[in-house]
Amino acid sequence: MKAIRVHEFGGPQVMKLETVPDLKPASGEVMVRIHAAGVNPVETYIRAGTYARKPALPFTPGMDGGGVVAAVGDAVVNVKPGDRVYVAGSLSGTYAEQSLCTQAQVYRLPEAASFAQGAAVGVPYATAYRAMFQITRAAPGETLLVHGASGGVGTAAVQLGRAAGLIVIGSAGTEKGRALVAEQGAHFVLDHTRPDYLEELLKITAGRGVDLILEMLANQNLGKDLTVLAPKGRVVVIGSRGPVEINPRDAMSRDAAILGMTLFNVTEADMRSIHAALAAGLENGSLRPVIGKQFPLAGAPLAHEEVMKPGAGGKIVLEV
Ligand code: NAP
Repeated sequence: MKAIRVHEFGGPQVMKLETVPDLKPASGEVMVRIHAAGVNPVETYIRAGTYARKPALPFTPGMDGGGVVAAVGDAVVNVKPGDRVYVAGSLSGTYAEQSLCTQAQVYRLPEAASFAQGAAVGVPYATAYRAMFQITRAAPGETLLVHGASGGVGTAAVQLGRAAGLIVIGSAGTEKGRALVAEQGAHFVLDHTRPDYLEELLKITAGRGVDLILEMLANQNLGKDLTVLAPKGRVVVIGSRGPVEINPRDAMSRDAAILGMTLFNVTEADMRSIHAALAAGLENGSLRPVIGKQFPLAGAPLAHEEVMKPGAGGKIVLEV
């Protein structure tokens, strides 16, 4: 089978399309024929060797995918060959024609969702759900700022927030991104490149600020976030690309909380609960993953360059 392989950490060009042996599932494992693989920013950090978790070389990147179960090992009870599934985590990587997964990493994909949409569920939707409902408990009627709403996690957060009865404010840096955020159901949309956009946010909330912020770029925004939180407000740091200075008094005066999260810390039980909620949303149509750009498998290096550029428009996916 064909797979992207990384033999040394480095720039996008270290990803090469190679022919490798077919995969065979062991007990408790599932082999999925991948039709589409999701591209996440974290895979660029892992490929570069700058992330806290470094896989043994050589490896195939990717943890998200959509496809069809090709074979199952003993003791697999949740799926069978021929089932349409999405993959949320993988033992062997998803930038490949075949991927080995534990059965806990494979979930049924409703007929209404395409394989590309399946590839957009794992990391982005699980992250948005975890941040909003497990790390903190967003309640209907609360006001949510999705700070960076045009990308994979952001579009998921807007849809989840809308479905849960929150008042959703989303930000994006381009005209196209803002139109997309509005289409996903945001009640208000802001331009995070404008110097006065947080003043606009305060106007929208009649000066009170927001109850909850999901933050995609904390190194730029955390200090500002604390100034637009309502009393007892919470910021959940999802993405950060460096250090940041804050004024702790902005948190103190509001009894505010700054929370962090990484999907790698989620227990198997919490993950089951997350995907049960996501499956319900995919089935009832409240969750509709948005595909931005698609590349062929051999275009993985281009996709990695693209995912780090500003001007997000949904999820970047590799067609396999
Ligand atoms: P993505 O699809 O590339 O989207 C990036 C988002 O960040 C876009 O909405 C982009 O908006 C926005 N952004 C750019 N400049 C911004 C600014 N100044 N203020 C606010 N937002 C800004 O990436 P993603 O998959 O959604 O992931 C978002 C971040 O979360 C990444 O850093 C990723 O590594 C991280 N993440 C963390 C976890 C975790 O477990 N903690 C899981 C998934 C992702 P425009 O392009 O419209 O400007």
